[in-house]
Amino acid sequence: MTNAELQQLVEKLSLADFGRPFQHQATFNRRLRTTGGRYVLQTHNLEINPLMIEEFNEDTLIGVIKHELVHYHNHIQGLPYQHKDRYFQSELQRIAGLKYAPATSKAKARQQPKHLWVYTCKNGHEIYRQRRINELRYVCGICGAPIRLTGELKRDV
Ligand SMILES: [Zn+2]
Ligand SMILES: [Zn+2]
Repeated sequence: MTNAELQQLVEKLSLADFGRPFQHQATFNRRLRTTGGRYVLQTHNLEINPLMIEEFNEDTLIGVIKHELVHYHNHIQGLPYQHKDRYFQSELQRIAGLKYAPATSKAKARQQPKHLWVYTCKNGHEIYRQRRINELRYVCGICGAPIRLTGELKRDV
């Protein structure tokens, strides 16, 4: 989906769900990792994580857009626009927007441990552990051969 198509979709949803036009810019932002989108207070623009449609589907994308549109319309009208505000929550419910974006692969990668110990059996099967284990007490889960520590894995996320 292109930015122009996203813009059209946001404008359409804005009129359908709020009866008010969306008069700012909606663009995809690939740098968003854990969030589905964001409303930028200073510019009134919306930024949407492209993974919402790439890893999920159009329903998820629409749910995220609706969520951001609640921030947008509430803020622009001087109404409570933050997650904690009851009015934000009731508006979100009214238009069936998503409360939370689903976890993207990038978000999941971030949750994984940054460091792992790698054990290998003589047949080359690899076992990853967050904590060091006593090699003499464990065997390979696949072939039953003894294992030994062969390395460490570091993530840079
Ligand atoms: Zn939000
Ligand atoms: Zn093995």
